[in-house]
Amino acid sequence: MNLQDLPQDIGRSAADRRDERADERSDGLTGVSVEEPAQELCDVLVIGGGPAGATAAALLAQQGRSVVLLEKAHHPRFHIGESLLPANVELFDKLGVRDQVERIGLQKFGIEFVSPEHEHRAYVEFADAWNKSMPYSWQVRRSDLDEILFRNAAARGARTLEGCRVRDVDFDADGATVQADLTDAQGRKTQRTWRTQFVVDASGRDTVLARKFGIKDNNPEHNSSALFGHFTGAERLEGRREGNISICWFPHGWFWFIPLADGTTSVGAVCWPYYLKSRDKPLKEFFHDTIAMAPELARRLRHATLVDDTVHATGNFSYDARHCTGERYLLLGDAFAFIDPMFSSGVYLAMHSAFDGAEVVATHLDGSAVQAARARKRFEKTMRKGPREYSWFIYRVTNPTIREMFMYPANPLRVKEALMSLLAGDIYGKTPYALSLKAFKGIYYMISLANLRRTFNGWKRKRVAVRNLGLLNGETIQQVK
Ligand SMILES: Cc1cc2nc3c(=O)[nH]c(=O)nc-3n(C[C@H](O)[C@H](O)[C@H](O)COP(=O)(O)OP(=O)(O)OC[C@H]3O[C@@H](n4cnc5c(N)ncnc54)[C@H](O)[C@@H]3O)c2cc1C
Repeated sequence: MNLQDLPQDIGRSAADRRDERADERSDGLTGVSVEEPAQELCDVLVIGGGPAGATAAALLAQQGRSVVLLEKAHHPRFHIGESLLPANVELFDKLGVRDQVERIGLQKFGIEFVSPEHEHRAYVEFADAWNKSMPYSWQVRRSDLDEILFRNAAARGARTLEGCRVRDVDFDADGATVQADLTDAQGRKTQRTWRTQFVVDASGRDTVLARKFGIKDNNPEHNSSALFGHFTGAERLEGRREGNISICWFPHGWFWFIPLADGTTSVGAVCWPYYLKSRDKPLKEFFHDTIAMAPELARRLRHATLVDDTVHATGNFSYDARHCTGERYLLLGDAFAFIDPMFSSGVYLAMHSAFDGAEVVATHLDGSAVQAARARKRFEKTMRKGPREYSWFIYRVTNPTIREMFMYPANPLRVKEALMSLLAGDIYGKTPYALSLKAFKGIYYMISLANLRRTFNGWKRKRVAVRNLGLLNGETIQQVK
């Protein structure tokens, strides 16, 4: 069957089609009734209802296309990744959800750096970036944010199903057949099948299509693991800095300290795998011992309580796929690549990829084969840009020279403004910070040369750390009490 030949939506306006779909879509929380037909048709099927998938589904449904968005979990569901970048604010605006995000978020104006080798703490603000028009973002609970984005996709006409795990995707000359297992509100399981013209994989670290095609590579330059938990009663910064993210280095990696609007604080240790490998005690105890290695963090948590007594662990999360498009599919967000949480860029890159990806899908559905091929080529390039821009810094982030530069943020040749632009996520716009960022890197190399022994030791330590694979070699988040 050629889906392009189907007359299903011809002659009706995008608004008509959107309204009809809004009427017939499921309420999302309960899934759909088991009596529905075994095979359904759609223009675009999106796998995964996180930020990337929900954004792409909202944009495509808004164009009047028939979009199905399948999410294996039920919103609100737990997810890590709570610190957002200022560049994300514009995307929330475009999706019409900025006010909702504002309501659940704590304003974040900047970053605090805490180093065990320095007496002082360093503070930088997004207002100091090259482009002064994006001074803040928010810290959010991801369960809340992702639910807002998912419901927004439904409100814009996407057919959203929760408890619906995509099991297999088969591509052929005309489209794709997608098979999924749907669990309804009573826990009954049914198998569902869709015929679609285009598949968008936004399945996050499950990387459904990259795994299917065997195109997922672990990053040879970087690999780290994380332990994290939520605390009540943590001591926060005061005033305008209360919502800052704090980055605290310790001998085996670095910590994030992310204050949330409800008074809870998310604390996570991103560490080299060799360190996790050394664990000889229950995870919770190990986490507390790790916190003790960062004295300022330990001080702020001295009266704090671990929520639900639960520590989470996730391992080896640095990877990318060899390509992110095919004739009838594309990969968005973490389904394509993830490097490291250091710069809180994950949600922004995921949502940005969805905006670009929605254009690629529209070109595929409406344009000629040549136009579609060109759009895919452009997309391949853009998708590599984000990870590339951040990875230079990420690969060096535990290096003493870069730490020194973060602890003493100065602005010769506008290098601090350039760095803050990057940290704000202003990487796809027209802000002309590239030369100053190069100057930053030049200064880094000069300082490294001037401190050769320290540079060599840092380089050696990293090489050993990267090679040493840890115990947590899984892709899924584990919860350990
Ligand atoms: C330790 C850690 C800390 C992080 N901290 C930050 C941070 O502070 N700020 C930040 O911006 N980013 C952070 N990130 C990264 C961020 O979490 C991700 O980049 C972001 O969630 C990517 O969004 P996504 O939509 O691509 O994927 P996800 O948010 O993972 O969404 C994918 C969705 O697909 C669903 N799914 C998966 N498989 C299937 C299937 N077969 N069928 C149906 N549904 C499926 C999942 O249930 C999920 O809801 C962090 C990551 C880690 C590992």
